[in-house]
Amino acid sequence: MPKPKLFIPGPVDIAPETYAAMAEPMIGHRGKDFEELYADIQPDLKKIAGTSRNLYLSTSSAWGVMEAAIRNLVQKKVLNLCCGAFSDKWYGVAKSCGKDAEKIQVEWGEAIDPEAVRAKLAEGGFDTVTLVHNETSTGVMNPLKEIAEVVKSFDDVLLVVDTVSSFSAVPTPMDELGIDVLLAGVQKALALPPGLAVFGVSEAALERARTTEGRGYYFDFLEFEKADAANNTPSTPSIALLYALREKVHSIVEEGLENRYARHEKLNAMLREWGAKHGFENFAPEGHESKTLVCFKNNKDIDVSAFVKAVREKHNLLINGGYGKVKGLTFRLSNMGNETEESIQELINALDDVIPDFL
Ligand SMILES: *Cc1c(COP(=O)(O)O)cnc(C)c1O
Repeated sequence: MPKPKLFIPGPVDIAPETYAAMAEPMIGHRGKDFEELYADIQPDLKKIAGTSRNLYLSTSSAWGVMEAAIRNLVQKKVLNLCCGAFSDKWYGVAKSCGKDAEKIQVEWGEAIDPEAVRAKLAEGGFDTVTLVHNETSTGVMNPLKEIAEVVKSFDDVLLVVDTVSSFSAVPTPMDELGIDVLLAGVQKALALPPGLAVFGVSEAALERARTTEGRGYYFDFLEFEKADAANNTPSTPSIALLYALREKVHSIVEEGLENRYARHEKLNAMLREWGAKHGFENFAPEGHESKTLVCFKNNKDIDVSAFVKAVREKHNLLINGGYGKVKGLTFRLSNMGNETEESIQELINALDDVIPDFL
């Protein structure tokens, strides 16, 4: 039996071209071949991120860089904007780094209110804010532009944004929005195998890092900056994943960013329509729905884990039965990465086939 095709919100299905790229011959990472590979990735990656500065390449999952942002930037106090599993955990990570941290916590399934951020920052004492743009656990897409505007209206407060499940699928223009650290793990919206994260760091964030103690080595922003000047990484990177990244960013620019955004919008609408047809409500509030996955409320009270199992057994497709404390109370379908109208229609046909047994 082949492995099921993944429609879970990460890791997602990998294109054959990606696997092929990863099989290119190994090279040494302290030589010209590697410098060319590194340099070849940058123009397209910068275009996708909307920044004039190179992005750094971290051989880690997203959490490596999420923790790094805390360790490099927080000197006074961080404000963590919490609305689901990943954003909530960032607060715990800040605490475990020994940093002073406060949070704005909303219910899972709600979005962050920019005005609440303004009120909290107005209390003073903060120098960093963390935001998860697309909270993959709840299918909520936070109002990035509005929150960025609020944060930017406070002097010396840096904004760190996790775009793990939105990068390249919706616009996240780093420079235009004044984002200080923009990061993404590669196994979700970018549809690469896990093990790599990409991140942009603003001048202001580098300036802050210069005077922050306890940055460590592996995730020290200044080490990345120094290595980047020579088209390199501080320590040995996952070269196979960089081959995959090069292939991927080239193919994204070839697809065209506007086309890619439109494709995600279209495929996401197809999934939402499927849910509406069977009476499932969105877990996200109207206007704050993710464009890369749907998280449905289990308002029909179906046996979610049996449903997921049946879709897998009958059709060899894998969907997700809810994350963390909303497991069973929600279920999620992903349209991120390489999905097409055909592949999403295949998923819908399978769901249509199985759902009558559960309603
Ligand atoms: C998956 C995910 C993460 C965590 O990624 P790891 O690869 O486990 O480090 C962080 N943020 C968001 C929004 C995610 O979806």
